Amino acid sequence: MKHNGRAPLRASSVRPNLINLRNGEKRAIVCPDCTTWRPIRDRMVIAHRAEPHSGQPRHRRAEPGRTPRCPGSGQRIWFDITPEQWHEALADAVTEAASRTATTVLPKAFSPATDRTLRVRAERTPAGRMADWKAVQVQVGDTDAARKELPDGERPADGPELPLKPEHLERHDRRQAELGKQYAARKALASSAA
Ligand SMILES: [Zn+2]
Repeated sequence: MKHNGRAPLRASSVRPNLINLRNGEKRAIVCPDCTTWRPIRDRMVIAHRAEPHSGQPRHRRAEPGRTPRCPGSGQRIWFDITPEQWHEALADAVTEAASRTATTVLPKAFSPATDRTLRVRAERTPAGRMADWKAVQVQVGDTDAARKELPDGERPADGPELPLKPEHLERHDRRQAELGKQYAARKALASSAA
């Protein structure tokens, strides 16, 4: 297939939720021209029509009036980031989206499962929070168990009483005297002003 003549699009310049570089999955991108997920083959966006489906039966597609080819067809993609880097960028984007209070409208993701996951995580629904907690439950359990294993006396709550006497008596007395003077000076100032 021939490319569309435009400069290659750097994968790093595409918002991470608009491209899929996940290992083991077919690479795909939201075509900037028709804003629809399109597979990438041979480092190019595959040839496609300007609309996802013409809605016409196959035998009629060659007739005049057929949906024209999308100019985004044959767009060269320059994979200048690794799947790991892309994944990190995606995770960052999801975290950022989650931190926003308003409901974030996410573009349609590549697969319905990914779409659901991203939406739930971005919207911070109770289900999303529950999923987050479920994901860390094992670690939380382990931490709790490890905490309980500490012998008595090593937990802060079981520690010896806090000493009530100052560590350096002289320093403490000096500080007290200073504070006393400051207080007296403030009081004198206040009474003279009154
Ligand atoms: Zn397109």
